[in-house]
Amino acid sequence: EEAELVTSVYFQPEMASDPSFFEVRKTVQTLVAEVLTRDTEDIDPSSYFSQDLGGDSLQSISLLTHAEVRFGLAIDERLFDRDLTVNDIAALVYRRLNGEFSDGSRGALADEGEAPCAVLRIRTFEETPEFKAFAERRASLMDAIEMFGNPYFVAQDSHLRDVSYINGKKMLNFASYNYVGLSGDPEVNEAAVAAIEQYGTSASGSRLIAGEKTVHQDLERALARWKGTEDALVLVGGHSTNVTFVGNFCTSRDLILYDVLSHNSITEGVRMAQADARPFPHNDYQALEQLLKSRRDRYEKVLIIIEGAYSMDGDVAPVPEFVRLKKEYDCFLMVDEAHSMLVLGETGRGVDEHFGIDPKDIDIHMGTLSKGFGTCGGYLAGSHNLIEYLRYNLPGFVFSVGISPPLAAAVLKGIEIMERDNSRVERLRENIRIFLEEANSYGMDTCLAGESAVTPIMIGPDEVAFMLSKQLENEGIIVPPAVFPAVARGQARLRFCLTSEHKEEQIKFALKKLHELMQPFPGLLQGGDCERA
Ligand code: PMP
Repeated sequence: EEAELVTSVYFQPEMASDPSFFEVRKTVQTLVAEVLTRDTEDIDPSSYFSQDLGGDSLQSISLLTHAEVRFGLAIDERLFDRDLTVNDIAALVYRRLNGEFSDGSRGALADEGEAPCAVLRIRTFEETPEFKAFAERRASLMDAIEMFGNPYFVAQDSHLRDVSYINGKKMLNFASYNYVGLSGDPEVNEAAVAAIEQYGTSASGSRLIAGEKTVHQDLERALARWKGTEDALVLVGGHSTNVTFVGNFCTSRDLILYDVLSHNSITEGVRMAQADARPFPHNDYQALEQLLKSRRDRYEKVLIIIEGAYSMDGDVAPVPEFVRLKKEYDCFLMVDEAHSMLVLGETGRGVDEHFGIDPKDIDIHMGTLSKGFGTCGGYLAGSHNLIEYLRYNLPGFVFSVGISPPLAAAVLKGIEIMERDNSRVERLRENIRIFLEEANSYGMDTCLAGESAVTPIMIGPDEVAFMLSKQLENEGIIVPPAVFPAVARGQARLRFCLTSEHKEEQIKFALKKLHELMQPFPGLLQGGDCERA
């Protein structure tokens, strides 16, 4: 199709013998001259619009749009990216005016209104299929919502540590990613307030241009030190960090292989990327090796993406196996540590510390600042050359504001706290052990949970998970349900998240209450069979 397009749109010398071609070309020359604010006589017909005449991408869009209007034609949008000569553009128009490309093929031009089939015009958002699907799904949950209230967007009036406050009522909170209690910590708050006083509340610009602050540089140095990498880069959001990195690291000559349970921020990046991409079965490094055996040689770069700990099942990835494969097949390995940072490893440094891996063996250490670090943002850590390249080239960094100074200062303080004392990580680990022991003693299905702070209890149907979540809330305990599409259909769960701040009695109390509420569903109290793995 591409080859046909190229040969079909370009100027052919025999056209020069037709006077009507000259007419068209004169008009095109005038349009080009207008767009470039130059004299028509300066526009040589054999000049390339961009390479020779200096037209940029905005002017190219202007030119083709004006040509469409002037000649009453629609120009194939793929041509907007291509550098064409004045002769080429004239040839496009000339051929179309002479009835060429009217065979329905995707030639260079198509008549306006030549839509392949009638489509229904949508006038309001409510008419869209996507809204209708949403409304239908909402309606199907309405009974449960009417009976128990909406489990989503429950507003809290405090920070989330072991407890939080809703409408003045103290709640036991198992819904936060504040894994080591850094959000709400007085020392962290103080650092954030001091940063507001020094810098204000915004970086007020892209760091590249005007938004750089000393605290940004201090934070990136501290993160690199914390992760044992040469350098680190901080962005404003964890989600956007993945979208922009995964979306831009690979070219059309590359391949991305990613775990099928990857977070939405990774799959959104994959969707955007020019590279070929394939998911591999969850944690299945053997399946990944088969893919590498059959495909590695067809690509320049291969990027393997995994998470340190998965956010819906709470399981930890067999990272050393992925390191082995990345070395054997010359790939780049990226590990998203959203849920393993400040959770795994003796001092909370993440998967490399947990498994005793040299940090250099993971090419891209990615993490969020919204979970263990208690603020908001994302980071990428790795070799100096990679990070320096990203600092000048990564669109989500270059074209976005720098992280807000109080957030940067809060994370910097958090790292300082964690470097001087690892008791928070120890307390978290002990709470995970207590939770699992207690839940298993009740016969609850904790299946893949074990080492991370996400310790879900499998329920099954969405409605039952909603109901139990709401009933727990009535008992003063917050545990959100995780339902489709965050998890597979029929695998809804109550997603307990533990922190270092929970007390043993609080964990035992919550599970005792849940056990009571699960009595009408004895089938849910027979332990897990781990088939999901
Ligand atoms: N990666 C993973 C694995 C996540 O779970 C999340 C958020 N839950 C993100 C990235 C996005 O991070 P943030 O919420 O900080 O934008």
